[in-house]
Formats: sequence, C-alpha cells, structure tokens
Amino acid sequence: RKEQLQLLATVEAITRDGVSFRLAGNISSVKDLEQVLHYGAEGAGLFRTEFLYMDRSSFPSEEEQFDIYRQVAEKAGRYSVVIRTLDIGGDKQLEYFELPEEDNPFLGYRAIRISLNSKEMFKTQLTAILRASAYGSLKIMLPMISSLEEVRQAKQILAEAKSDLDQRGIAYDDGIPVGVMIEVPAAAAIADLLAKEADFFSIGTNDLVQYVLAVDRMNETIAHMYQPFHPAVLRLLRQAITAGQDAGIPVSVCGELAGDEKAIPIWLYLGVRDLSMSPQSLLRVKHRILNAEASAGREAGANCYRLATGAEVEAELTRFAESCV
Ligand code: PEP
Ligand code: MG
Repeated sequence: RKEQLQLLATVEAITRDGVSFRLAGNISSVKDLEQVLHYGAEGAGLFRTEFLYMDRSSFPSEEEQFDIYRQVAEKAGRYSVVIRTLDIGGDKQLEYFELPEEDNPFLGYRAIRISLNSKEMFKTQLTAILRASAYGSLKIMLPMISSLEEVRQAKQILAEAKSDLDQRGIAYDDGIPVGVMIEVPAAAAIADLLAKEADFFSIGTNDLVQYVLAVDRMNETIAHMYQPFHPAVLRLLRQAITAGQDAGIPVSVCGELAGDEKAIPIWLYLGVRDLSMSPQSLLRVKHRILNAEASAGREAGANCYRLATGAEVEAELTRFAESCV
C-alpha cells in the first residue's frame, strides 16, 4: 500500500473531471524539503523557521540562515518555498531569548509581535531570506498578523533590509512576494483590507480554529471542542478566501486541515487549489483527489455551508469521502 502510494509521487493531483491541485509540503529543514519533494510536493508552502533558532545558545547569524535558505531555494529548483518568519512564543521558547512569563502565551508575545519589537533580529532574518532569493524562488510569509499596521511595519523593515543589501552590492529578488498568514480571526475579518498590502494569503487553520473557537489546540480536556469543521470556521475560511480571490491574490491553505482529505470538498467549493501539508499527508491527499469528482465535491462543499453544526458537516464530508472509493 505504501509502495503503491509512492507511485503517485510523480502523478499530477487532478480530479476525475480535470480539476487540478498544487500540493506543497510543510517543512522545518532542508532534509524535510528533500522528503516532501520525494513525495511529489511542488515546493514548500510553509517553511517553519523556528527550528533554525531552537536547540542552540544564540540567535543564528545572517550567514547561518542564508546558508539554509539558499539550500532550500536551490533544492526546490523550479518550485517555490514560502519562508515563514520566526514564530516563537506560544508553546515555543528559545533558551537564549528571555520571554516574559505570561498567563496566556498563545494570546501574548508571539511571532510577528516579537519580530516587530526585535527589529535587528527580524532584519537579520529578512536579509538572509533576501540574499537567498537570488538562488531560487522564495516567498516571505508573516505569521500571526492581526492588523494592517503589522504588515506595513514588516514591509518597512524589509525595505530597509533591501536598501542595506543595495549598499553592500548584494543581489536579491526585488520582487520577492510578501504574504500574510490568516490564522487570527481578526485577519480573516479584515482580509479584504489585508489583501491590498499582501501578495498572497496562506490560511493557518491550526491557530485559526483555536482562536475562533477559543479552544486551546494543546488542551486535551477540551480536544473534542477543537472542531475544524465548525460552521464558524467555515465562514471565516470563506470570508478570507473570497477576499483574496476578489483582490486577485493567490490563496493557499497550510494548516493541518490542508492535509485532511475529508476537507477536499470545502476547497473545491471555495475555489482553493493550493494546499501545503505535512510530508505524510501528501500522497494520501493526492490519492483522494485522483478518486474524486470535482462537481460532486463542490456540491458536498456547498451542502456543508447549509449545515448548523461541526458534526453535521463532518458527516456530510464523510459521506462524500466514502463515495470516492
Ligand atoms: C497554523 O497555525 O495553521 C500553522 C500552519 O502554523 P503553526 O502550526 O506553525 O502554528
Ligand atoms: Mg500558526
């Protein structure tokens, strides 16, 4: 079965009636990139860079980061890699970087909030990404965005990093796309406004679900309430995706929901064709896409939007999944 799935690595992800998807991988290292490419991923839709910063005693230098980002740019070849800037805080700590003790770390000092407040650290990362962008197709993605100001500030710092590189006479991709993660409900609610400043959206369903349902994604006691198919989640997905589409920018999904084959009708219905997922989901999701009828999937997706509970939506999606085999 595993060997059979591996045969799909080189097959295009296309439904029976000709709707094609682009499946990319979520990675944390150069090695992960090699693995997802082996599974047929068309590049990486999420490179979680925090792992470069962990298990060490100081911040990685520009040179060290450049070396890794250049390797992923080169290894991805004709595909692109979306590099997400540092997303620490929440559950992720760095030994050498003192973060305040917080009652609610997931609602606290995290991700872009830290980057914008530690400008030199952020600029070092952006500079390393920019330098690597001369060696392949890279994109920059900003995590935990909840306001337009944050995007503008990040872009301002990126502009400074670019002009420093100009002065140093170092090449980079001046048109490197800057995208926004939609993972805080506020971002979904103002997606039309963010779309004016963002080159692309990528929806982080892991945090989006946690924040919109007020359900800690790590808390076992309330794990049953963590419902990715809750109508509130579906509505925010539709709002954000439609806003991106109306603005003419690419919209992809990179949270765990992208790797859940049950969710395919939702993507078909909402017009999402770009999914980025963990390595072990790639071939499973492709297998389901190959066996699906997009027209029936779209209908199932539309039905989901008429249902009132997460359980009902899940039942509808299960019904569709079982019709695919
Ligand atoms: C997400 O929140 O959906 C996401 C992809 O980011 P992470 O899982 O790294 O928080
Ligand atoms: Mg997240």
